[in-house]
Amino acid sequence: MKVLGQVKKSVILGIISVIMRVGRCKLCGRRMIVHLRYANLSLCEDHFINFFENRVLRTIKRYKLLKDNEKVAVAVSGGKDSIVLLHVLNKLAKDMNFSLSVLHIDLGISGYSNRCRELVEKYVNEYNLELNLMNMNSEDLSIDEIASIKKLNRKLCSICGVIKRYWLNRMAYEIGADKLATGHTLDDADQILIQCLISGDMRQLYKLYPIVYSATHPKLVTRIRPLFESPEEDILLYAKIEGLEFIERPCPYASGALSLDIKKLLNEIESRHPNTKLSIYRNFVKKIRYLLDVYSEGEIGTCKICGFPSSVGECSYCRLKRRVLEYRKR
Ligand SMILES: [Zn+2]
Ligand SMILES: [Zn+2]
Repeated sequence: MKVLGQVKKSVILGIISVIMRVGRCKLCGRRMIVHLRYANLSLCEDHFINFFENRVLRTIKRYKLLKDNEKVAVAVSGGKDSIVLLHVLNKLAKDMNFSLSVLHIDLGISGYSNRCRELVEKYVNEYNLELNLMNMNSEDLSIDEIASIKKLNRKLCSICGVIKRYWLNRMAYEIGADKLATGHTLDDADQILIQCLISGDMRQLYKLYPIVYSATHPKLVTRIRPLFESPEEDILLYAKIEGLEFIERPCPYASGALSLDIKKLLNEIESRHPNTKLSIYRNFVKKIRYLLDVYSEGEIGTCKICGFPSSVGECSYCRLKRRVLEYRKR
């Protein structure tokens, strides 16, 4: 009877200690805010913030994204990913000895772009940062305008991509930045990886790396993606805990894009098989990417119209601009 009593007592104590630990931060025992299934780790607010920022720092160090004393142009759309990227880099800048300059493109989407711009301006003013604005209305090339042209509106997302890639590189170059940082996430990395397999675009797949030197051209700024190992659900939680304001509505033109379906599918797999998203990307980098070395670009040509990098005589942006003008004349 005595032995049985002791067994019962130890079982009860065991259950109590499990109950006490459930809902507690693994590192400090305070109330947990999140359980990260991919790492089997429960964390409180403070330890989650540390965990998140340290992961970005590790990505920066592992892939040698930054050097001492560099000027980093940060592309900020006003969405959660780029606002979080800016916030983390802003925290790291002093210790790591780099300076920041913010780039924002007003795409001219009515009822949307104004709000994005306001949110970026608010952050920049609060932290006294430098802001470089490009307004697509002043180029007569707003997304609303392009959407109104029947022949172009089906490819709107890729056209928007052309505009952003072109102006972000050009603005970064014109302010003398050493690096151009974008808020691409782990979810973006996996999604692009799958889309490259679907389309067979191996050149694009080769570039799926946290730092892209790619082709050499005097007017091409090296791109970095410090959030490439951070999943979007963590980015959202980080933004909420840090009280960051960002645009919560999706772009009004983005519905039905293949990229969104791929991300949804990846999250379904992740929910049943934790750590899938990071494994896909890490294994690609470790075991597949070097096999694609043949797809690395050596040098790239120059656009005869604007003087910026282009693989053909006229860059995609100048071509777009010319075509929009032609449609407008009709
Ligand atoms: Zn804690
Ligand atoms: Zn051009």
